[in-house]
Amino acid sequence: SIKKEAVESEERKGELGDLDPSVKVVVRIRPINAQEKEVDRTVRKVSSDSLTVGDRKFTFDSVLDSNSNQEDVFQLIGVPLVKNALAGYNTSILSYGQTGSGKTYTMWGPPSAMVEDPSPRSHQGIVPRIFQMLFSEIQREQENHDGKLINYQCRCSFLEIYNEQIGDLLDPTQRNLEIKDDPKNGLYVENLTEEYVSSYEDVTQILIKGLSSKKVGATTVNSKSSRSHIVFTFVIESWCKGASSKCFSSSKTSRISLIDLAGLDRNKLEDVGRQSVQEGKNVKKSLSHLGYLVNTLAKETQPEKPEDAPYGGSCLTRILRESLGGNAKLTVICNISADNRNSSEILSTLRFGQRIKSIRNEPVINEISEDDVNDLSDQIRQLKEELIRAK
Ligand code: ADP
Ligand code: MG
Repeated sequence: SIKKEAVESEERKGELGDLDPSVKVVVRIRPINAQEKEVDRTVRKVSSDSLTVGDRKFTFDSVLDSNSNQEDVFQLIGVPLVKNALAGYNTSILSYGQTGSGKTYTMWGPPSAMVEDPSPRSHQGIVPRIFQMLFSEIQREQENHDGKLINYQCRCSFLEIYNEQIGDLLDPTQRNLEIKDDPKNGLYVENLTEEYVSSYEDVTQILIKGLSSKKVGATTVNSKSSRSHIVFTFVIESWCKGASSKCFSSSKTSRISLIDLAGLDRNKLEDVGRQSVQEGKNVKKSLSHLGYLVNTLAKETQPEKPEDAPYGGSCLTRILRESLGGNAKLTVICNISADNRNSSEILSTLRFGQRIKSIRNEPVINEISEDDVNDLSDQIRQLKEELIRAK
């Protein structure tokens, strides 16, 4: 019966694993716009998790067709993310796809919708919806303390990778920041502005400010074409105090990383000026490093040690270390537009999604428990005793 229990528990884990795998890939098909209406449609959703492109079939965790709205995306991706983040997991969303496929719309939505109350019909993106839910969950948690008081402290930063340089979207005077590796706390960007926030309104103000300092390409073809990758990072620290004793009982730190990639626009490079060609080359370079990293991680023979994987290729791949092959729960949104003039980009986006799907992340709850603290206290006491004896 013990064996049976073990099998059942494995099965349960399998079920849960399927519901909330460590790497999740969702495809979103954006609606065809006025100029595209004439074109034959080659992309079709055939079930809740599969689609066909011509006669090729692809299966992912979920497929959202062009009737899906921003609330559907939030329910599918945002709700589990908030729960995981509050449970102490690092979580990430990576929005991928060619220029014009809906990456930015899906993530942030239009700035005017940022401060709206999110209704299903609103264009508000997944990111503001996430923080609306997060702060209401935190508030509920704090009102509803049964003998325990949980304290939360949240802070965030917003960066852009433009022409292989890291810029601070919350302080645009800082343009060439460096990535440092701290042996204890991992990677961080030196001197990047961090703002403490305690409400949804605080976060939306920061998002609006950051997004308005973002670089946009000066192309004539698509004046809004984004030439930078942007990363919004949100850190939640929580600690819990027992009501009866003042002593510390547990503490958690988790990070939410929300990444909107620049799109590759390879057909249009000839049409634009020199500055833009250079921007395009840098976008291409970092996306091809990303592709190479994903290929390496997706192979059956993954590198033994994480440090052997090729993260060093570009700023983007270094920043994604925790999200790709690291300890975060990652969701990739593969955005495509169902216009068959883009079929080679659609196929390459879907193939990227398939390779990401075979990457193994190892999510852990970032928690220091009372036991850990007691262990550390014991160690400190022993060391002190040794020190006294040595004197
Ligand atoms: P990307 O960031 O991938 O370059 P955008 O998010 O800027 O693409 O989207 C291109 C255009 O299509 C924008 O005008 C955007 O508002 C519109 N769009 C994208 N996805 C949707 C959608 N699901 N519903 C309605 N409009 C969309
Ligand atoms: Mg964009």
